[in-house]
Amino acid sequence: MNITFLGTGCMQPTTKRNHSAILFSHKGENLLFDCGEGTQRQFRFAGLKPAKVTRIFITHWHGDHCFGLPGMLSAMKADGFDGVLEIYGPKGSKTYVKHMLKGLAYRSFINYKVTEVSNGKIVDAQDYVIEAHPLKHSVSCVGYSFIEKDKLRIDVKKAAKLELSGPVLGELQKGKNVIFNDKKIMFKDVTYAVKGKKISYIADTVKCPGASRLAKDCDLLICEGTHCDDIKERKYMHLTVREACEIATKGNAKKLIVTHISGRYKDSKDVLKEAKKYFKKVAIAEDFMVVEA
Ligand SMILES: [Zn+2]
Ligand SMILES: [Zn+2]
Repeated sequence: MNITFLGTGCMQPTTKRNHSAILFSHKGENLLFDCGEGTQRQFRFAGLKPAKVTRIFITHWHGDHCFGLPGMLSAMKADGFDGVLEIYGPKGSKTYVKHMLKGLAYRSFINYKVTEVSNGKIVDAQDYVIEAHPLKHSVSCVGYSFIEKDKLRIDVKKAAKLELSGPVLGELQKGKNVIFNDKKIMFKDVTYAVKGKKISYIADTVKCPGASRLAKDCDLLICEGTHCDDIKERKYMHLTVREACEIATKGNAKKLIVTHISGRYKDSKDVLKEAKKYFKKVAIAEDFMVVEA
């Protein structure tokens, strides 16, 4: 799994940070989380192809998370995307997408399907699921978890003892019992389970039960942390860097990447310094940062 941060800023873009967009690339699938203005251009800078995107997950319909959608859909069309793009978002998403695209003279978009999501499993693919959980923001907002399914691995010593070889190993690894040399081999006897990874994205929110569920036992938590504690007055429904760290700690997350950074912080080092006070394995997201997970 490669995670490419394409936009790590918040409401106002800066010369260093574009609006929110994060791409999860996993075995030929490209899952785009949020699509802020200029996301298609960020793809070009990153050497990525818009037409390779297979699903788009919008957290909420504030401009800094979705203004890039029409551009992305037309870029995908120009690049020859010929499937049906799955778009997911909170309640109201069908209307928002329809109105967004209706406001343009350009009408030749790719085929797409919008699914409104609120809570629980929303995608069940071959080797992963996506869960949505509600967040608490000034408009309907959801966060997402990518959860890899547990995998079976062959216990080489046990397999060698039974002199197993050839295609039966593949069958056993799929969880099937096989007949080998007239003997029934149970997959449980020669395999062991490897836990799949959980990677979550918490977008604009304040602390809430949904954020805690997303963070729970994460291998990697990507969480907004718009401000540091130099902002005394809480005017916005956003997390601070400290709160992002507290959510990661409480959820027992292994690693944390803080994103959606306010333009007031010119140097990420200051934000990192604050984050390190509260969580050890933390990084501050930068545009075009690529993380292997
Ligand atoms: Zn935002
Ligand atoms: Zn917002």
